[in-house]
Amino acid sequence: MSAFLKDGLARNYLAGAWVEGDGGARIAVEDPGNGQHVGDCALAGEETLAKALEAARASFERGDLSAMKPARRGQLMQRIAAEIRGIADEGAELLCRESGKSLSAAHDEFEEAAQYFEYYGGMADKIEGKSIPLGPDYADYTVYEPYGVSAQIVPWNFPVSIAARSLAPAMAAGNSVIIKSPELDPMALAMLGVALERAGVPAGAVSILNGIGAELGARLVESPAVDQIVFTGSVPTGQAILRAAANPVTPALMELGGKSAAVAFEDANLDTLMSSLQSGIFYNAGQVCSAMSRVLVHRSIYGEAVERAAALANGLSVGHGLENPGLTPVISARQLDGIETLTATARQSGARAASGGARLEREGYFMAPTILADVDPAARVAQEEIFGPVLVMIPFDSEEEAIAIANDTPYGLSAYVQTGDSARAARVARALQSGMVNVNGAFLAAGSPFGGVKMSGIGREGGREGILEFLETKVIAAP
Ligand code: NAD
Repeated sequence: MSAFLKDGLARNYLAGAWVEGDGGARIAVEDPGNGQHVGDCALAGEETLAKALEAARASFERGDLSAMKPARRGQLMQRIAAEIRGIADEGAELLCRESGKSLSAAHDEFEEAAQYFEYYGGMADKIEGKSIPLGPDYADYTVYEPYGVSAQIVPWNFPVSIAARSLAPAMAAGNSVIIKSPELDPMALAMLGVALERAGVPAGAVSILNGIGAELGARLVESPAVDQIVFTGSVPTGQAILRAAANPVTPALMELGGKSAAVAFEDANLDTLMSSLQSGIFYNAGQVCSAMSRVLVHRSIYGEAVERAAALANGLSVGHGLENPGLTPVISARQLDGIETLTATARQSGARAASGGARLEREGYFMAPTILADVDPAARVAQEEIFGPVLVMIPFDSEEEAIAIANDTPYGLSAYVQTGDSARAARVARALQSGMVNVNGAFLAAGSPFGGVKMSGIGREGGREGILEFLETKVIAAP
């Protein structure tokens, strides 16, 4: 391993070098599976941030990426993908320990990260403008230009793959990037710098800084030296960032939370529903922005669906992420307290816990896999993002009612439809207020535009839409 780790201290990747940051500040990183100390992370302060901003600007103005031949930029990105796979075993173990997720899910993150670089590496030389037909005397045309310095703030639930989801298209488009890692699990993301370094990313084109959100994160997004903000995280933080971005009008891409509903009709295949549910609400202990956290089931199959969901929850193995269990811990004591409180409030107001309902008494931060039945669609537990392994199940009688309940939250990130009737699937998919709709357990990949409507966000990442978020369109009108 490179100088990424020195005496157990993960450092900041600043303009091609590994540095400790300002004044020796550091944070301790804890294993949510057993409370043990995983390591320490050096924190960047204002001085380090100023150096990263200066290096990013200089790199952009030198044209390190933006003036590099697009096909070569694509090749660089393919090398990064290969180097990410090269660090995946070591990185996945670190990620598993610091985030609590299963080792296989941690591996998936590195693999997904590599795939983002492959996908956008392939797109680097295919960003084509258009010519506008105004008659034989004119030659108006469009070109795409990178913003300059892209500031990217990453959450703790998928730190490596989410960082890659924004970093890869930003680089393919020719921007410089400064990433702010999440404070709860910053180490595997810091290690991504090793792959960048080995692949030969020009110094200054990318920095990865560790810091506290309200401090380093806030300083980064309010800086007038930043040309674009990409934020993935909670709605309140996104709103604070949008306020900071308002002056000096920095464009901001927002990937925020969700309260995604699955609608299972009377002809739904319950086996498919259960397997979607297992990945939809128990993968990563439900700490997934697009988690299937509400399941609306037609009344004729509701009782059976609740029973099977409870049996599924009760049958999950529970353990440390390294054991690859069915259920892993949530990220922190604070997160566990919040999940448990919201669940208890729901139970007090009439929801029935068909399984779970409280924390598990064992070391680490484990919430019992919980199925809450007969929940009022207006209850807090059915309206707010829980971000834990807690599923809300609501019966419905008609298609119209199901659509109305599904759409009745401030969010609109993802939705799910389970039915054997393809015409109904298409109709309901169109009626759901959501950036993404999955029918009968389908899945998304790097080529699928990911993002939400309403309070779930602004903009899309992934696919061709995803690279356009990192480019300005310029029209050139010429005689
Ligand atoms: P969070 O908003 O608490 O923090 C996200 C990041 O913002 C962290 O790096 C944090 O340090 C930083 N931050 C905090 N305050 C800041 C400030 N004032 N200025 C700048 N940065 C600041 O969110 P979280 O708890 O880390 O992540 C969970 C949330 O993220 C959930 O709501 C989840 O749905 C959402 N999420 C969305 C997507 C998506 O693609 N739509 C993906 C993953 C997670």
